Amino acid sequence: MTTRDKTALIAGGGIGGLAAAIGLRQAGWTVTVLERPSELREVGAGWSFAPNAVRAADALGVGEEFRAVSVPTEAGATLRTPAGDYLMRFRHERDAPLLANHRADLHRVLVEQLPTEVVRTAAEVTGVEQSPRGVTVSYQTPAGPRSAQADLLVGADGIHSAVRQAVWPDTPAPVFQRILCWRGVTEPGAVWPVEGFQTWGRGARFGAHPLNHQRVFWFLTIRQDDPGVRYHDDLAEVLRRVGGWHKPIPALLAATPADSVLCHDIFDLDPLASYVDGRVAVLGDAAHAMTPFLAQGACQALEDATVLAAELADATDIPAALARYDQARRPRSQMVARMARQDPKISLSTNPLTYGLMTSLTRLAGGGVAARKTARLWDWSPPSRRENAEKGE
Ligand SMILES: Cc1cc2nc3c(=O)[nH]c(=O)nc-3n(C[C@H](O)[C@H](O)[C@H](O)COP(=O)(O)OP(=O)(O)OC[C@H]3O[C@@H](n4cnc5c(N)ncnc54)[C@H](O)[C@@H]3O)c2cc1C
Repeated sequence: MTTRDKTALIAGGGIGGLAAAIGLRQAGWTVTVLERPSELREVGAGWSFAPNAVRAADALGVGEEFRAVSVPTEAGATLRTPAGDYLMRFRHERDAPLLANHRADLHRVLVEQLPTEVVRTAAEVTGVEQSPRGVTVSYQTPAGPRSAQADLLVGADGIHSAVRQAVWPDTPAPVFQRILCWRGVTEPGAVWPVEGFQTWGRGARFGAHPLNHQRVFWFLTIRQDDPGVRYHDDLAEVLRRVGGWHKPIPALLAATPADSVLCHDIFDLDPLASYVDGRVAVLGDAAHAMTPFLAQGACQALEDATVLAAELADATDIPAALARYDQARRPRSQMVARMARQDPKISLSTNPLTYGLMTSLTRLAGGGVAARKTARLWDWSPPSRRENAEKGE
């Protein structure tokens, strides 16, 4: 069988699933994405991408489109106190900017890379069965239950992944990290220009990134002991907490439509023992959902998709190719997830001593320490097909 004859089903049409679909199609596979909602769209606000993710986007052939909807942001290296003092300030000669975009824009860019028949909406994956010859996926549609067969299944169906639960039923449930997060986007041109920044309060972290069309994405994360706590008016609650912080925070909040503010509990996953089983692989949040504190969840999903496509490009033995994907991706993505779990233990501490120590140390040593930490995170390059061929297939 040649790669051209091979078929893949992908559960989930988020950034990870769409990136995997693009990569696998370029590698010659016939791909179908099964996506639960009846409409293919990304809700949500903005996010930022580090250089490792941009390299992955380039490897997937969507770097140009990615850059076209993105805006450089200094938020990775500009840290302030609520009064506005700088703990650390972005320096062009030392710091690489992140790229920020609106989730809906990036999602559209990825969808546009795929022929319309590739994505099947209103298709909720409910079950998985494997044989040595292939995978059968059950899914629910408005017209009733359906099933589909393929040579490969990729579970890209997010933190509550049905694929993960079907293939690894004993995996522990996602873990609440005692964090609540609000997100919003300003009206175009209302507060502009804005350089990205993060502001560290005690037990609260605010951040802002410029987006295209002169919009600004902001977030506020706080300590919250229990999941499910909700507020009658999210924007009013955010204002109550940080409305007295430095400029332009009050203006950003004033320029945000109240009914567009999102509020989510933050969960992550304990490390999985494997990302693959036979002809099934998981990627993105289905494999390694992490807290947003390093802004690496979607970056890691793009890395996953790139490596998966490279390993499967010339593969004749699918389980062997997936085993290589697992070996390449699990150590790194679990290292990042571990760091993302550790980070808020200090950076979101409500303890005045910890907060004082953290801000003093950042002020004293900030740039160098932060640059070393991010270098470790961002130091990743996509595999080439040649490397894959050298592995003996
Ligand atoms: C507050 C916050 C801020 C963040 N900021 C950043 C950031 O700045 N940078 C960054 O890199 N990452 C960030 N992340 C992480 C990032 O959002 C995730 O890592 C990323 O969205 C994961 O993509 P995914 O495709 O794996 O999963 P998802 O985006 O969750 O997509 C899963 C898809 O699967 C579909 N689906 C679910 N179940 C089924 C089913 N049974 N059948 C079929 N389809 C199904 C869903 O509809 C969805 O489309 C942030 C996360 C949060 C919570």
